[in-house]
Amino acid sequence: MISHQLTLEYTLHPGWLAPFVEGIASGTAIARRCKNCAGTSFPPLRVCLCGETAGEWVELSGMAHIFFRTSGQDGDFGLVQFDGATTKTTLRLIDIADEDTRGVIAAPQSNLPMLCLTSIPSGRAK
Ligand SMILES: [Zn+2]
Repeated sequence: MISHQLTLEYTLHPGWLAPFVEGIASGTAIARRCKNCAGTSFPPLRVCLCGETAGEWVELSGMAHIFFRTSGQDGDFGLVQFDGATTKTTLRLIDIADEDTRGVIAAPQSNLPMLCLTSIPSGRAK
């Protein structure tokens, strides 16, 4: 095995995804709703499945249903669909019991805009 240290420094520019990326950083689910068919994509699609490019930003509740999950050396991940969204996404699962099928968006634990889902606090409707 050959060991070599590589250092990269770069800046991510979110562009038109700015509302979505800023939402992730604060633990808020900001989706894109199509002006033509009202399909609501999260993460947002630049071009809706119907072909439309015009849309508006909408805030979802942040609650999501977990369809599939897997665990690896880097943690737990799931395929989920956020309430109010018509698309699914993969994300990191944080402190969600194996039997739980629902979670809520959480701010990432690093400075990277990583999409995360955590357990729903007791007392909050699931
Ligand atoms: Zn559409």
